[in-house]
Amino acid sequence: MESAKVISFETLTENVGRFNVKNKTFLIPQMNRIGGHLLAATFRGFGIKAKVMETFKGMDLGKEYTSGKECYPCQITTGDILYFLKTEKERLGDAFDPEDYVYFMPESDGPCRFGMYNKYQRIVLDSFPEFKRIRIGALTTRDGYSLEGLIDEERVSDLRKASYFSVVVADILDRLLWRIRPYEKEKGMADEFIENSMHLMEEVFEVYGPKKNFERILDKLEEVIEQGKEIIDPSIPPKPLIGIVGEIYVRSHVYANQNLIRLLEKYGGEAVNASIAEWMNYTSYDRLREAKIGLRLQLKQLRLGAVKKYLKKMLDFGGDLYYQEIRQRQVYKRVKKLINIPHDHKVGHLEKVLKEKDLFTFDVGTEACLSIAGIVEYAREGFNGVVNAYPFTCMPSTTTSAIVKPLMDKLGVPYLDTPYDSSYQPGREAAIRTFMYQAHQHFNRHGRRH
Ligand code: SF4
Repeated sequence: MESAKVISFETLTENVGRFNVKNKTFLIPQMNRIGGHLLAATFRGFGIKAKVMETFKGMDLGKEYTSGKECYPCQITTGDILYFLKTEKERLGDAFDPEDYVYFMPESDGPCRFGMYNKYQRIVLDSFPEFKRIRIGALTTRDGYSLEGLIDEERVSDLRKASYFSVVVADILDRLLWRIRPYEKEKGMADEFIENSMHLMEEVFEVYGPKKNFERILDKLEEVIEQGKEIIDPSIPPKPLIGIVGEIYVRSHVYANQNLIRLLEKYGGEAVNASIAEWMNYTSYDRLREAKIGLRLQLKQLRLGAVKKYLKKMLDFGGDLYYQEIRQRQVYKRVKKLINIPHDHKVGHLEKVLKEKDLFTFDVGTEACLSIAGIVEYAREGFNGVVNAYPFTCMPSTTTSAIVKPLMDKLGVPYLDTPYDSSYQPGREAAIRTFMYQAHQHFNRHGRRH
């Protein structure tokens, strides 16, 4: 990566940021397969040429252009974008123009390296003369993933609403898969059904997302659920229920977590992963929380000009959160009438859980807030075991593990840490098998409440 030496800092601000994606191909990385596809479909409905990139095929490139000190998701996504661009260049030849694309790499504000991925990837892309001019579209948690600037202003609010809705529906499809696959009549039926359903819902989102006709989307979702239920073999008895928490990318990306859920199922479990919408709600909640703290401070110092600014922020983020939670509740309410899938944790409630036992604080931030409280909730709700999935050396997840392990020991709930990098640990499957043995024992003693 020799030309990284001559990089100018301007590129980090000029070529990483929020860009209008009109007439561009908007490249979406595949963290969670269903979520990525429904989001891309929603964007397409709004006239944006959105495309989900293939994932994990560029791992060699990812390894080649990282030093090994980065988090695993950085390695994977670096490989994904390089693989895509190289393949695209080969496919198009002279017609390839990097300016035709905007690569979407969100970032997070706070103590994590995640905020640096897109800057690092900028440096990597700049080291290839032919990819220098591709821009990186960076949405940030700092403003609750605002979509302003991406498309014409008057459509931003609708795009945000439809996008959030697609995230919730993708969560439901995932939960449907995890609910039916352990009980399927024939091996492979559930996977095939969910893959087809995902494509069906893509079409639905493209058509009804821009019209905000969420009722129509829900009607289709209900049809999918009714069909999905048919896959369950009623003669298979309930299995131990395992909750998964951890770093959002690794716990959601099936190759990154080496098919953790499938492995838990192989050893007789039924698993539920923390949702993606939970993270979206958390970013809005946290921005609202910061605005409230800022407002209190300004009021104390009688800075009336700043008070106005914080009030506006409170209204904006409070409005987002209110909208998101209402929508999410509406979807789960309808779905739960048809099939028993676990509800999602409300972020405000998770903060209370942490405060109750003084386990951690939202002041520190990061996913540890959600994971620690989420684990406590899983234990209270009668789950038979909990797995924490994260990239090797991930700071918030290591914090989670340190706090939660003794707690789970005390509660007698089986708990397992599964850190991942690009290597395959020979003892991983044995650890999961042992964990599932403990979960079975817990299940035999306490049953399950869900
Ligand atoms: S959350 Fe973990 S994986 Fe993500 S940037 Fe931070 S340390 Fe890395």
